[in-house]
Amino acid sequence: MKEDLSESNKKFVFKRPQPLSVDQYVEGILNGNRTILSKAITLVESSREDHHELAQQIIEKCIPHSGNSIRIGITGVPGVGKSTFIEAFGYHLIEEGHNVCVLAIDPSSQRSKGSILGDKTRMEKLSTQKNAFIRPSPSAGALGGVANATRESILLCEAAGFDTIIVETVGVGQSEITVHGMVDFFLLLMLAGAGDELQGIKRGIMEMADAIAINKADGDNLSASKLARREYLNALHLFPPTKTGWTPRVETCSAIQAEGIQKIWELIQEHKRLLSGKGFFEQNRKEQAKSWMHENIAELLKADFFHNAKVSSKLPSVEKRVLNGEMNAYLAAKELLDIYKSKH
Ligand code: GDP
Repeated sequence: MKEDLSESNKKFVFKRPQPLSVDQYVEGILNGNRTILSKAITLVESSREDHHELAQQIIEKCIPHSGNSIRIGITGVPGVGKSTFIEAFGYHLIEEGHNVCVLAIDPSSQRSKGSILGDKTRMEKLSTQKNAFIRPSPSAGALGGVANATRESILLCEAAGFDTIIVETVGVGQSEITVHGMVDFFLLLMLAGAGDELQGIKRGIMEMADAIAINKADGDNLSASKLARREYLNALHLFPPTKTGWTPRVETCSAIQAEGIQKIWELIQEHKRLLSGKGFFEQNRKEQAKSWMHENIAELLKADFFHNAKVSSKLPSVEKRVLNGEMNAYLAAKELLDIYKSKH
């Protein structure tokens, strides 16, 4: 809709806060302005096409300033202590002079509805620190998907000067695989004595972990945690060696007492040194970017397909035939694709 600039409306139009230009966004982000960074992330997470386009222009200009960080994925079942751990870990890093950003991927998050990670203010202490930036999970409505929004937010946070990016997730559906595909180091938090099945840990997730931390290794739980550490070490040895030469580690920690945190940070740095030395660190990021491109192709094609006028007019009748058992699903999909590809 065109704006009405007639005399009666002029006052109103000029009173409205001026939207920032792409360059103002970029300048703000590069200067580490939190408010502008937050606004840019809101654009990234938006379901509106115009916001999405503006976000892409901002990201494009921020990319040359991004990448200079360590990206750490943290996962584990609800209650394992992710938020307590990140608080202690983040604090430790800030004390060492780092700038820490915490992003999240919660597949259940709708912002207004409930979510597993919880939209309540988590990591309250950390969030008050000027060298920390905490952002809850994008809601499922983000155009281009939640994973894309988080990947793009990582780039913006790096451009804003954050050198440590933590991406938190919870073991639901594909979210761990998604986070694994956007980080340099993947940390799995576990509990002693809870049983792998109880913790929803599939073999594949353990295989993805660069380290496992047995949390709540304190009080009566200390000896059980040490025992669990040995058991997990044995279990990890059964997996084939990684091509990078890194052997996954298992440590115990107590997030609530901030114990074992330094050890975990050291091994993350050791991992980075080892992989960088052999060129694997950069190679992994390049491969991640390539898969990201493929995911985007699939997403864009899908969106274009369903927006296609010929497809959407034909879709209900084809769906009906599939529902009635008159047509096989594969052939139905092919028929729609042929319609999509046809020139007229
Ligand atoms: P999340 O759901 O994985 O984010 O878990 P939270 O960080 O919210 O922690 C769940 C509960 O476990 C809270 O009551 C924490 O106080 C408690 N908790 C977290 N870490 C520890 C720990 O290291 N030791 C003990 N004893 N309790 C912890």
